[in-house]
Amino acid sequence: MKKKIVIIGTGFSALSFIKKINKKIFDVTVVSPRNHFLFTPLLPSTTVGTIEFRSIIEPVRNISGITFHQSYCTGIDATNSKIECEDSDTGKKYALDFDILVIAVGEVTNTYGIKGVNENALFLKELSDARKIRTKVVDCFENASLPGISYQERKDFLRFAVCGGGPTGVEFAAELHDFIEEDVKRKYRDLAAYVEIILIEAGNSILASFDRKLSEYTTKIFKRQNIVIKTNSPVKEVDEKLIYLDNGTSFNYGLLVWAAGNASTNLVRNVGFNLDRRGKILTDPYFRVRSGDKVNENVFAIGDCAAIEGYEIPATAQAAQKTGVFLAGYLNRNFYSERPFNFKNLGMLAYIGKRKALADLPQYKGTGFGAFLFWRSAYLTRLVSFKNKVLVIFDWIKTFVSGRDVSNF
Ligand SMILES: Cc1cc2nc3c(=O)[nH]c(=O)nc-3n(C[C@H](O)[C@H](O)[C@H](O)COP(=O)(O)OP(=O)(O)OC[C@H]3O[C@@H](n4cnc5c(N)ncnc54)[C@H](O)[C@@H]3O)c2cc1C
Repeated sequence: MKKKIVIIGTGFSALSFIKKINKKIFDVTVVSPRNHFLFTPLLPSTTVGTIEFRSIIEPVRNISGITFHQSYCTGIDATNSKIECEDSDTGKKYALDFDILVIAVGEVTNTYGIKGVNENALFLKELSDARKIRTKVVDCFENASLPGISYQERKDFLRFAVCGGGPTGVEFAAELHDFIEEDVKRKYRDLAAYVEIILIEAGNSILASFDRKLSEYTTKIFKRQNIVIKTNSPVKEVDEKLIYLDNGTSFNYGLLVWAAGNASTNLVRNVGFNLDRRGKILTDPYFRVRSGDKVNENVFAIGDCAAIEGYEIPATAQAAQKTGVFLAGYLNRNFYSERPFNFKNLGMLAYIGKRKALADLPQYKGTGFGAFLFWRSAYLTRLVSFKNKVLVIFDWIKTFVSGRDVSNF
């Protein structure tokens, strides 16, 4: 009889695992509230309509040979080899037995418990977040164009704040700037002069994980584009209208996007396995999960939610994918691998607006238009399906030729 594998999640690590695992030997069940895979590197482009939402997702049910349940996993009982699940739509609860469990639940956005962030900021993690941002951006422009609005109110509606100077915050600020330059100036002609983009960062530089020269280059380009960068500026509190910084200053905002880092999910925090100081599940180099001194032979954790004890892996799509491929190979070979997991970083890319990008690769540090072409072609080749590739190319051409769609629905 086939062994039952249950995999929790439909992100980068889960998808690469599901594709590689041998379905002739294993019976594969996938549990996730998301019935599609999301290509997050292009998510910032959907927030202003450079790319359409459906172009960067792929339904999990397109993968043959698996069973899928659209539910949250709410608890794990490793001793009795069971997980508890709950359908977020109907509230239906049920349990699933497993022979092998793979936890691939990723992380959530970290609010650091700062007052008002959950209630007032928008996150950029899921497609539903990008849709909310896109609606809000357009609303800000429509509100600011109503008659009887004072100069100050108009300025406040059009002050876009982005918290987090990592790649996600930078790419969102860049996309927003492109939207203003290429579309707002044509479609909301009188409003472009009121727009302000403010990038808030608690540390002393943006893109701290990139090479210092590339981070400095981005700062220079952003300054030239009038994107205000506030470094060394931790946020203390947020309310409906104002952002309060630690240094005692505050300012009004029309939209606040919060992209200030990651934290572990509730499931991971409460699961009872050993966690590291960042709250990731500790594993051995074969992704077996530890509880106390014991290594669980049939429970594995991969992707951003996991950390190999004593071995650093970055929280990137590239690394998550490799963990999934490694684990599938290990299980396909009857729990055998010649070598423990070893990660070779191929580098990082980021879009910084106006057809410029950064390429931070081991052998090459590139900026500008050349890096932009590389960024586009690299992500195009990594998109999951042929359909995604065609749709994204079509969206890029459409945006170039006729601009972004500002309809709200
Ligand atoms: C906007 C954005 C841009 C990014 N850009 C890049 C980039 O350019 N390059 C790069 O390398 N990386 C990028 N990343 C990071 C990259 O997306 C992550 O490192 C990667 O997605 C991690 O993969 P994962 O499989 O661990 O988790 P994820 O891909 O986050 O998947 C987690 C899955 O678990 C599911 N899940 C969560 N909780 C539960 C539960 N309780 N029960 C069941 N299922 C659950 C989720 O629905 C999801 O399907 C970006 C991230 C974001 C948000």
